[in-house]
Amino acid sequence: MRTGLNAIVVLAVLGMAGIAAAQTGDLPLSLLGRHRLACPVCEQVFTALVVTHTNARGGVDRDLFARAVGPEPEYYRISTCPNCGYSGYLSDFAPDVVLPPDLRQRILKSPRLELPAGFTPDSDPRELDASDRYRLAIQCYRWGQKSDEAIGWLHLRASWIARDEGAMLPKDPRLARVMEYLERYRPELSDAGGNQRSVEMQMVSRALEALAIGQFNRYQKPYVELAVALILRRHGENRQAGPMLDRLIEYKSFSESLRQGIARMRESIQREREHQAEAVTCFERALLAGQVARANRGVACYLVGELCRRLGRDREAVRWYDEALRDASLPAEVRTWASEQRGEIALAR
Ligand SMILES: [Zn+2]
Repeated sequence: MRTGLNAIVVLAVLGMAGIAAAQTGDLPLSLLGRHRLACPVCEQVFTALVVTHTNARGGVDRDLFARAVGPEPEYYRISTCPNCGYSGYLSDFAPDVVLPPDLRQRILKSPRLELPAGFTPDSDPRELDASDRYRLAIQCYRWGQKSDEAIGWLHLRASWIARDEGAMLPKDPRLARVMEYLERYRPELSDAGGNQRSVEMQMVSRALEALAIGQFNRYQKPYVELAVALILRRHGENRQAGPMLDRLIEYKSFSESLRQGIARMRESIQREREHQAEAVTCFERALLAGQVARANRGVACYLVGELCRRLGRDREAVRWYDEALRDASLPAEVRTWASEQRGEIALAR
């Protein structure tokens, strides 16, 4: 993957979020298509699912995870050869792609890539979990000695998958009633800058206020807290969601399946954090070594700051936000986020 492409993706995503604010009518859903790809390692020909149209109407989290209405593009960005496991973006399967000399040897012979058991060239590509695809792609990128920036992006995207897969709970009638009740706190999309993420974070603030003034009885309260934790989890605000879930898993009146769901959500936070920490290491190394293209530096600094904030590394976060804010070419929307997020840390300290 060429350096620089990701920043273009980022700007396109922000542009789409802006369009979402302006138009709330009938925009097309994201769409999937099937592509025939040939593996450059083992020559296996296979079908991959790729996103042909996308949108960011599901909202953009502040670490740039853009949710589509329709199939989520991040799940389909990485293709995997069902024979040898070679994985990467579509560009990594281009007919003219040049592989580093020992990559083929490493993938096919030693140490060898391992596909999940039962996944064969005859399997439907949907049967391979996105988190497995990213794990394989990260391995290929490391063996292929790709840039730290490129590996950092894979880890960041894998953290989004952990977030998205982890933000769900089994059906529960009492939780469903509470979620329905919380709808009264939902602001208009246009009052929240057109971003679904802002809409839901405002709902969280209002629900927390209602909890604080004792608006719910002791039977309702754990369900309201769980609904709030679910929304926070959905946006990867794990520093708030994590302690709430630690408390809620002890609540004996929740059904067994709900408690198992809470346990899975806590595990997904752990996975997300591991990928975020790896992404920070990679991006930092790329930035400090001057490997990030000039035009992408500001956004990369912002991202490191944002990931540090999410990981609870506040001092580093402030330093990187400041670095981003010093960059004159930082896109306006990212600049606003950098100031706001930095301000929140300053308030909390
Ligand atoms: Zn292959």
